[in-house]
Amino acid sequence: MMSNVLKNIISSQGTCLIIPHQSPDGDCLGSSYTLSHFFERHQIKHHIIMDDVIPSNYTFLKKNNMLKSSDIKDDEKYDYAIILDTSSLDRIGASKSVLDKCASMIVIDHHKTNSFFGDTNIVEMVSSVGELLFNLYTEIDYVIDQEDAIGLYTSIVTDTGEFRYSNTTNKTLQVAAKLFETGFDFESCSREIFSNQPLEKVVLKSSSLSNIELYGNKQVALMIVSQQMLKQHNCDMFHSDGIVEAGRDISGIEVSVLLKEIDSNTVKVSMRSKSFLDVAEISLVFNGGGHNRAAGCTINAPLKEAKQLIIKEIESRL
Ligand code: AMP
Ligand code: MN
Ligand code: MN
Repeated sequence: MMSNVLKNIISSQGTCLIIPHQSPDGDCLGSSYTLSHFFERHQIKHHIIMDDVIPSNYTFLKKNNMLKSSDIKDDEKYDYAIILDTSSLDRIGASKSVLDKCASMIVIDHHKTNSFFGDTNIVEMVSSVGELLFNLYTEIDYVIDQEDAIGLYTSIVTDTGEFRYSNTTNKTLQVAAKLFETGFDFESCSREIFSNQPLEKVVLKSSSLSNIELYGNKQVALMIVSQQMLKQHNCDMFHSDGIVEAGRDISGIEVSVLLKEIDSNTVKVSMRSKSFLDVAEISLVFNGGGHNRAAGCTINAPLKEAKQLIIKEIESRL
């Protein structure tokens, strides 16, 4: 039983580093939040490793036990690294440097492209790591409280696109109902997450969308966020969150692609599909990964070249 993993940590009073993926989203932040709370309730010594800026709509999930990987000293030792919502090791970025201070690596994830890179791998195809943690908690009869519900709900509501995507199952909704039974303030969570956008982010989105390009018989929407646009609108790259979904939501579009220019030779690609195209497969061609309907990869090429490469790959599958 996979929940033995949590039981063993508690019974051995193991020390842990919780490691979410880089460019943190609602799922990895929400699941880090509840797992940290679970450890607090069991007096387990732990930290969350957070090397990135937390997007402003998720700052309510900040914990004062968050450290940067550079804060972990060379002579510190932990029993477990618990890596959340991450399909391959390169997705944790700078946090990789703390791994050699941990005796064992536990991966808790729900990506179908997961490469089982941990010593223990708890990988299940559920909506979110939040739903997976809920299942692990239930197996060990852990009583979920309102703090847990805040984290778990954020994970689930963000990764399912507010219960609209195909990863939402009847079980997912049952889990959400169980969270509601705790009486946590879901309205406040929703406000924080969805009605709390900085103006500059909205302006960046509008600029990116107003330069949308269509390919593949108008089934492919392509948007760009360049370094120049970030400068112009006083934004950071994490403000590009939500643009790729807006492209997908246009009528007739099957695949939406957002190209994020990291530097002159590095482009991060985010893809979303609407009903049939497997974007995880396309991402794998470029050593990325993800889910059928939401995936990404990094292409080491200038914007223009990256655009040609990805469009060619998509068009060949339409
Ligand atoms: P994003 O477009 O960054 O929101 O990512 C969408 C999905 O694809 C998420 O589930 C990510 O975990 C996954 N993903 C994004 N980029 C990569 C990558 N470079 N390698 C593996 N998976 C990725
Ligand atoms: Mn994620
Ligand atoms: Mn996830």
